[in-house]
Amino acid sequence: MEKVVIIRYAEIHLKGKNRGYFERVFTVNLERSLKGIRHELHRISGRYLIANFDEERIDEILSRVSRVFGVHSYSLGLSVPNTLDDIFAAAKSVAPQSGTFKVDTHRGDKKYSLTSMQINAEIGGRLLDENKALSVDVHAPQGYVYIDIRENGMALVFGQFFEGAGGMPVGTSGKGLLLISGGIDSPVAGYMMSKRGMNVEYLHFHSYPYTNEQAKDKVIELARLLSRYALTEKLLTVSVTHIQEEIHAKCAAELNVTLLRRFMFRIAERVAKRKEAKCLITGESLGQVASQTIEGMTSSNAVVSLPVLRPLVGFDKNEIIERAKKIGTYETSVLPFEDCCTVFLPDFPAIKPKLSFIEEEESKLDIERLVVEALNSIEEYRF
Ligand code: ATP
Ligand code: MG
Repeated sequence: MEKVVIIRYAEIHLKGKNRGYFERVFTVNLERSLKGIRHELHRISGRYLIANFDEERIDEILSRVSRVFGVHSYSLGLSVPNTLDDIFAAAKSVAPQSGTFKVDTHRGDKKYSLTSMQINAEIGGRLLDENKALSVDVHAPQGYVYIDIRENGMALVFGQFFEGAGGMPVGTSGKGLLLISGGIDSPVAGYMMSKRGMNVEYLHFHSYPYTNEQAKDKVIELARLLSRYALTEKLLTVSVTHIQEEIHAKCAAELNVTLLRRFMFRIAERVAKRKEAKCLITGESLGQVASQTIEGMTSSNAVVSLPVLRPLVGFDKNEIIERAKKIGTYETSVLPFEDCCTVFLPDFPAIKPKLSFIEEEESKLDIERLVVEALNSIEEYRF
């Protein structure tokens, strides 16, 4: 009898011919997520098993598995030979000590000599004989004994299904570059694209010394928290201080934000192309702030040729907050450090800036020089 973590995968099976590829990526991701913990990973048809693991770290193993995209559900259970005696021995240690229970059998191996119903009856009967404090309730039991008859003479016995992160294995949907701020929204946007299988890299703009070191540390921490799902290893940062100073000195104040955002997009696109990322990702949500009107989004889209994905575009703030809490970034996002967008913030930002006005103001700036200077300030943080 061996303790195992049973992993069932999601959506991968939908991919037909590509199934082999999806499984290879998924395997690599599982291995990466378990890095530093002793374990063996085995694939059996339709399942993965983590075996021979460091039992003292089982809670950590389960929480890491819970964040791997592509996992549909997982269980902590026992792997035994598929004889009734072995299955019963495992069932005893999985079953509740008292109260009501139900045995629920699934046969992956349809050639097994007993039907699922017969196995339920046999194991359920033996459990009742063994422990008088137990009774069967097939409708609303307090506890379950799940039996999964696998091929190769193996059976898996467990008491609970935990819901996995769902989605698709990271790396199966190309690469994108997330513009990550210290706010609540962009980490959630990154999470959502990772969940769809995208490999997400992170780019952050800072205005040091107007923004301080703690503001940067906060973003590094957010990126690290996201990486537990996205498996990204680093964050890139770029300084836009000189750009903000020039905009502030030369251009109409109500366009500060609009112009800065266009610079952010231009810089991000250059970085994305270097990294072979196929799109930009932002945490914008329609109408949330003055710069997130359709006109504002159009004006930033106009300076790039890569598509800009905005997975939160139709979300309310409270829906975003709920997700941020669920994925564990909210507490960090609400720490009070300034972001570059709040430096030089005009009293009345333009809500529906006209493109002709934007271009007129921008013509006062040496755009290419400013972009190249920004790109020369790239720093890399690994976590
Ligand atoms: P967030 O909560 O993600 O900061 P927000 O509601 O504060 O969003 P804005 O500050 O207008 O909105 O930013 C909109 C989007 O632009 C962000 O979601 C993010 O993708 C990008 N962005 C804003 N500031 C930065 C920054 N300093 N570095 C990188 N990306 C940024
Ligand atoms: Mg922000």
